[in-house]
Amino acid sequence: MCAKCIKEKPDEALSVVNLARKRTREIFNLPPSPPRSLGTACGMCANKCVLGQGEKGFCGLTKNVAGRLMRLGGTSDKGILEWYYDALPTNCVAWWFCPGCTGAGYPKYTYKPSAEIGYVNLAVFYGACSLDCLFCQNWHYRYMSQKLSPHMSSEELADKVNAKVSCICFFGGDPSVQMPHAIKTSEIAMGKAEEESRILRICWETNGNMIKEFAKKAADLSFKSGGIVKFDLKAWDENLYRALCGVSNKPPFENFMTIGEKYFSGRLEVPVLTASTLLIPGYVDVGEIKQIAEFIANIDPRIPYTLLAFYPQYLMDDLPTTTRKHAYECYETAKKHLKNVRIGNVHLLS
Ligand code: SF4
Ligand code: SF4
Ligand code: SF4
Repeated sequence: MCAKCIKEKPDEALSVVNLARKRTREIFNLPPSPPRSLGTACGMCANKCVLGQGEKGFCGLTKNVAGRLMRLGGTSDKGILEWYYDALPTNCVAWWFCPGCTGAGYPKYTYKPSAEIGYVNLAVFYGACSLDCLFCQNWHYRYMSQKLSPHMSSEELADKVNAKVSCICFFGGDPSVQMPHAIKTSEIAMGKAEEESRILRICWETNGNMIKEFAKKAADLSFKSGGIVKFDLKAWDENLYRALCGVSNKPPFENFMTIGEKYFSGRLEVPVLTASTLLIPGYVDVGEIKQIAEFIANIDPRIPYTLLAFYPQYLMDDLPTTTRKHAYECYETAKKHLKNVRIGNVHLLS
């Protein structure tokens, strides 16, 4: 389905897209959409699944067993995740202004006035997600949701934070469906770092589809620690977002606004909030970028915004990469509204 049909004839277009999504979700034993049955409610993320007897939640980490909600992952005892150390400076989406890669906020939030060479980021790749993007760049996380493995408690993960770790980045998949695990890990690790007078920034790379309480908690941890909340704002048009990602875009945009209004102007030396958008050829065009940039500017035009070049992946592997023309038109459009805009993955531009 093309973007024009999705926007102008959404019912017809979405029914076709949903059929394709259903087929692919079956491969991973995941439900086609967030269940809305009579049964038990989850409420861990903004999808707010309600599960009937025997049903699984959209993310695959909950199940209704004999009328009771079972959490199969995402609790502080059992996070479904992989982790690794990523030497600083990293290629994080916020590398162009973050403390770990540039020295911003030195000496309060980083050990060095430039890139923190000699230190590492603890990268936490969560193996489940609250969206189902057809272009997913990390689609293999779905095998982890299916196998519920590998897994680790918050205590065990926090133990990986040694004196050389100066930041943690929760990404995936997405942390939105495992927030109790991520929050507990952060609290344990931050407590230990504080006792030992060490720097430890908490960062998130997320689709933002969290319940508001968790979004605020994530921002609070980042704000205190010198970390950054990185939201992927994938599309402005709700039907386009539904087609591409499977659910509504209202919660991510609302959470972004809540965090921006509450925290952004309170710590300008290290921006606590940033956004990025993948420039999907034929779908995320200049019009989409204009609307997203205006939305961000209404919160604060100083919020950094990264436009990312697209690489064909997962079910949209038949698309080309973003063209240079597309990227620079979007860049010029965003620059009319925002002070800090950057194109990422320039090497992918065709
Ligand atoms: S965490 Fe979100 S996606 Fe998973 S079952 Fe709960 S409400 Fe649904
Ligand atoms: S985790 Fe945060 S501080 Fe560390 S490299 Fe990434 S954006 Fe920078
Ligand atoms: S939010 Fe990210 S990890 Fe989740 S489905 Fe979309 S692209 Fe994949």
